[in-house]
Amino acid sequence: MKTAIFGLMRGDEGKGKIVDYFSNTYDVIVRYAGGPNAGHTIYRNDNKIVLHQIPSGILNRKICIIGRGCVVDLKKLYNEMQMIQKIYKEMGYDEDVRKYVHLSQGAHVIFQSYIQEDIDRENSGKGNGSTKCGIAQAYRNKFDRKGFRVFDIFEKDDLNISLEKDLNLTNDEFDYLKDIIDDDVTLLNSSYCDLNVLFEGAQGVLLDIDSPYYPNVSSSSPGIGGILTGTGINPNYLIKNFNAIGVAKCYMSSVGDGEFLTELNDENAKLIRDAGNEYGATTGRPRKIGWLDLPLLSYAITISGINELCMTRLDTLAQAMKDKGYFKVCVGYKTDRLLYYDANIWNLKECTPVYEEFPIWKEASLSDSNFRSFIEYLKNYLSKRCFNCTLKYVSIGKNKEDLIKIS
Ligand code: GDP
Repeated sequence: MKTAIFGLMRGDEGKGKIVDYFSNTYDVIVRYAGGPNAGHTIYRNDNKIVLHQIPSGILNRKICIIGRGCVVDLKKLYNEMQMIQKIYKEMGYDEDVRKYVHLSQGAHVIFQSYIQEDIDRENSGKGNGSTKCGIAQAYRNKFDRKGFRVFDIFEKDDLNISLEKDLNLTNDEFDYLKDIIDDDVTLLNSSYCDLNVLFEGAQGVLLDIDSPYYPNVSSSSPGIGGILTGTGINPNYLIKNFNAIGVAKCYMSSVGDGEFLTELNDENAKLIRDAGNEYGATTGRPRKIGWLDLPLLSYAITISGINELCMTRLDTLAQAMKDKGYFKVCVGYKTDRLLYYDANIWNLKECTPVYEEFPIWKEASLSDSNFRSFIEYLKNYLSKRCFNCTLKYVSIGKNKEDLIKIS
């Protein structure tokens, strides 16, 4: 089985926890796009672990591949590996973490100068609200064919670069990382071709570089196309036996600019933001908050081929709205135009959301009738709007166990 898990919004949907939940049933976990800004947050016995570059499956000691579609900060990768090595020790595992990590030779490398450039651009007010990690600069150089791949850095002797100045690496750190360099195409199409593989989406599909939200997007391809270009897996492996799981929150959040039709600017935004601690994991910036936009979600489901939806944060919404007693969901748009999936998101400005109000549940559990009726509503909506997609899971807490399977 080959499975992909995508965030269906603009990131922070809770993918890390869902990947962590599923990774036990897969042998190989793959990151295929993005850089060290995408922080997946995972909890182990209430300990918070943030992973930026290594797939979340590493905590379950699964084979983890960082594909050619990613850009890597080698120093941060080294530090992340040291952190995981320490966690392994605390868990009683006497193994070298390098046994599990493969870094594609084709991934592009972030230089220190890119990071400085990113910082300068953001500070000048001309940026796109980046996390200042030099990611866009690495992708720009890649497409300008001026970039440096992992292969170039580790295999070419004639490169005129300084480990310390350009990559912030010592010789020992460089030698340590040599052991994880591999070829993703060989791994996925030969060594591991019969194994169960999980592709872990970073960011969210609405942040794909080809999303209509351009230019308020990421510089990579977190959508479904990124799996092929970002790893080199033979598409027939996906056509044969593919499952796409989409993760979406039951409300929406966003950082940065761009259309946000259901954005809230009243006290409900504050209630949800505080209940959900909706502040950027890397930057601490308060996230914009809005009601769930179902037509937009249908769009994201459609372009990603999602067949199983996992909706998260049903506990957060209950906590935020308990005193108000209700919450809203955008179920359509008022417009004269013929819209694809009701979501002409190339020009969202033209759409006025139509809301439906629901009573909030006291307890995020199937024993609560308000909770059950919202789930029924969602199931019904998806069956009418989204080809071959069902609501399969709802998440009701930050821990891996806080997940309800919907039959
Ligand atoms: P990702 O980038 O999509 O992986 O999102 P994050 O890793 O930043 O997840 C955001 C936070 O949401 C993490 O602290 C998760 O543990 C938490 N989380 C995920 N699902 C739920 C949920 O259903 N309820 C609550 N309360 N927290 C959740």
